[in-house]
Amino acid sequence: MRTFYDVIIIGAGPAGIFAAMELLHHSNDLSILMLDKGRTLARRICPARTTGICHNCEPCAITSGFSGGGAFSDGKLSLVSEVGGRLTDYLSKDTVQSLIDYANDMYQSFGAPDIVYGLNQKAVDDLKYEASKYDIQLIPCPVRHLGTDASMVVLGAMYKYLTGHKNFRFLELSTVQEILVNSGKAAGVRLQRKGEAPMDVGAQYVIAAAGRGGAAWFLNESRRLGLRTENNEVDIGVRVEVPNAIIDHLTKDLYEAKLVYYSDTFDNRVRTFCMNPGGVVSEERYEGDLAVVNGHSYNDPALRTDNTNFALLVSTSFTEPFDEPIEYGKYIARLANMLTGDGVMVQRLGDLLKGRRTDKDRLKKSTTIPTLASAVPGDLSYALPHRYLMSIVECLKALENIVPGIYSRNTLLYGIEVKFYSAKVEVNSNLATKIQGLYAVGDGAGLTRGLMQASAAGIVAARDIAGISLPAQIQKGRSCL
Ligand SMILES: Cc1cc2nc3c(=O)[nH]c(=O)nc-3n(C[C@H](O)[C@H](O)[C@H](O)COP(=O)(O)OP(=O)(O)OC[C@H]3O[C@@H](n4cnc5c(N)ncnc54)[C@H](O)[C@@H]3O)c2cc1C
Repeated sequence: MRTFYDVIIIGAGPAGIFAAMELLHHSNDLSILMLDKGRTLARRICPARTTGICHNCEPCAITSGFSGGGAFSDGKLSLVSEVGGRLTDYLSKDTVQSLIDYANDMYQSFGAPDIVYGLNQKAVDDLKYEASKYDIQLIPCPVRHLGTDASMVVLGAMYKYLTGHKNFRFLELSTVQEILVNSGKAAGVRLQRKGEAPMDVGAQYVIAAAGRGGAAWFLNESRRLGLRTENNEVDIGVRVEVPNAIIDHLTKDLYEAKLVYYSDTFDNRVRTFCMNPGGVVSEERYEGDLAVVNGHSYNDPALRTDNTNFALLVSTSFTEPFDEPIEYGKYIARLANMLTGDGVMVQRLGDLLKGRRTDKDRLKKSTTIPTLASAVPGDLSYALPHRYLMSIVECLKALENIVPGIYSRNTLLYGIEVKFYSAKVEVNSNLATKIQGLYAVGDGAGLTRGLMQASAAGIVAARDIAGISLPAQIQKGRSCL
């Protein structure tokens, strides 16, 4: 293996992949090494996806490997700059939108389906008006839906494109332990490959794209390297599951209805997130053992279920002196794991409102059949703080006005869903840190929280390395194949 590359990319999620594709688009000569602690796409096999039972694999196939969190994701590409991250804090809204349009074209050129939901303006306006009558805000957001099945195909095509390039190398099962810095300049990485002694690989540029799974590591590295960091909020809540029939009128036009409600008692912001019509609830693991809930769906109509699921999340920004929001979120998820023995909990809304646990017999009576068979019936009120629980219940009650039937005793609530947003690392508008040649992009740098903005962030860093100024480079409709 070479001991020096022009660019090393840490993490093979959408941020890393789009950085690599953009670099290769601008220069055939740059040598690029992409490292990921997980496996190549074809070798990412998650037993929980087929058997419903998590085997605590190390590394976790859901969060690590080529495609990062994107591999088993629902592949909902949010096509507006207001959704999926905070890139507009660093770049103008127009620039972010152009980057999203550009990345959207790239996804399509690698086989993403043509259909975009949320473009029926009349339907969007009608739903927006109806929601506003009940203090619910609808955030319009066109969505291109890949589905878990098509995501694999699209990302597989990107893998083929990248690995087919003579100057690109991807190494799986390769964990970066340290970012090497020499006289204030990025110098490479210290790498640990499974079963081998750590080795140093040099580079002129390092792009850190470690995602949420690598957030804690990158935060420590940033602190060690003297980079300034700022806490992000933490989103804590549940995943709601209802029959499709109850919510079809929202999802058929929008696919994903992004709704925001400020709770009556605590005035906390509660939002819907990651809506999966005809989808399945799933379990994902952080740090090998922490079980949290998520959801996804398939593009193939034959794989659609009778249920729709979505997250209902309460956002909290902690103020001084508390500065461990990620640990706080994990603590609450661990509490729920402790109560179930290990794994995700499920409770009927009716049981929660009556102050009793859902047990196996009560769950059997549920007219909404859980799609996550391994979820353990229990009582969420033992794990979720009152503030979160109240806010979620009040939001569901308000949603009943526009989604009749959702505030029903058979609505299923799975816990805990936690979205950890990494601490924000200080970067400039090219997403470069103050260490020359070191870039911080994607979810792991606390800048993004979705596929599209993570992809756009990778493009920004790549263009800076390639010496391309942003606006001049935005050419809509270019195919990079
Ligand atoms: C189940 C699921 C469903 C989702 N559904 C959607 C959706 O429908 N729409 C949407 O917009 N978003 C969705 N997301 C979120 C989306 O996947 C992420 O926002 C996106 O993948 C972030 O991209 P990223 O490149 O920043 O990080 P990631 O995709 O997380 O990739 C980071 C990579 O870095 C690697 N890594 C971390 N630390 C190290 C290290 N020290 N050394 C080497 N490698 C390291 C990890 O193994 C990982 O592969 C979903 C996420 C999950 C888990």
